Amino acid sequence: MQKWKKNIRDIEPYVPGEQPQSSNIIKLNTNESPFAPSPQVKKAIEKYDYEKLRLYPSFVCKELKGALKDIYNVEEDEIFLGNGSDEVLALCFMTFFNSGKKILFPDITYSFYDVWCRLFNIDFERVPLNDDFCIVKEDYYNENGGVVITNPNAPTAIYMEVSEIEDIVKNNDDVIVIVDEAYIDFGGKSAVELIHKYDNVVVVQTYSKSRNLAGIRLGFAMANRELINALEAVKNSFNSYTVSSLSQVIAAASARDVEYFEKCVNEIITAREWTVEELSRLGFETLPSKANFIFTTNKSISAKELFDFLKSKGIYVRYFNKPRIDQYLRITIGTKEQMEELIKAVKEFLNK
Ligand SMILES: *Cc1c(COP(=O)(O)O)cnc(C)c1O
Repeated sequence: MQKWKKNIRDIEPYVPGEQPQSSNIIKLNTNESPFAPSPQVKKAIEKYDYEKLRLYPSFVCKELKGALKDIYNVEEDEIFLGNGSDEVLALCFMTFFNSGKKILFPDITYSFYDVWCRLFNIDFERVPLNDDFCIVKEDYYNENGGVVITNPNAPTAIYMEVSEIEDIVKNNDDVIVIVDEAYIDFGGKSAVELIHKYDNVVVVQTYSKSRNLAGIRLGFAMANRELINALEAVKNSFNSYTVSSLSQVIAAASARDVEYFEKCVNEIITAREWTVEELSRLGFETLPSKANFIFTTNKSISAKELFDFLKSKGIYVRYFNKPRIDQYLRITIGTKEQMEELIKAVKEFLNK
């Protein structure tokens, strides 16, 4: 064995959904949007002066923060920008979870959280969801080093009311509560208003899902200035220029096109309700979804077999071989046409 091997960090990474390169597949496995970004984004790229790429980007990000400020009713210095919300969340873990006590998050939730805990040596405890896969707020009231709630949760898609989030924030005033709102735009209400009422809550959102821009890697956190300053200090101890100048221009143009944003989100919601209804006719039970994906099961079949069958038909969905959820499939909502293809394939599987 090489002598240096013992000095190498050995860590089990997060495994994202497959990104097959073939164009003739129906990709319903990583919760991206099936729609193109706003036409305003195309215009902004065409207008962009490529010579600017010579320079480091602005780390003030004035234009983008200005656009977000109006949407979320926050001040510019209450916004932190990062290269995807995964980066923002990782920096939050690094910045806010240093008590030595266990941080809490649900047993079934975004599976990146425990990876960051291991990466940054943060102790954690997975709090079981109840039998209906709901988060029970009282389970987060005991002594802890911080709380992370995904709302709507993933992969269950179940949404929690802001009043319940508020109760968790109130009952944890000695630690930071992170609310990961990657899917909040598909029918939920953001908890962002809480940042002006409580100094211990951080709301994290992303451009990757409802804003049709997973490719630019842009995420952001909103919280009171003190928390944002702490995040900035950690970021600037790691990598100062995280958001590329082109991403900033694209994200600002997208944020200003509210009409297009709403049209896309509404189409997803309509396709989601249609899909849930069709699946229910075929014997599937789907958890109530306020996300751009659904979590569904059918007691008479094997989820893994359906997953494999769909894949053989070029339809990619997500299967998690994990306790409690190994009979479920997580299916991203695509266009109505894509969902029709999905239902057709499911029928074919059931008739085999
Ligand atoms: C997709 C997702 C993210 C990460 O989004 P990026 O901004 O693309 O890094 C974070 N949290 C949850 C729960 C997600 O599903």
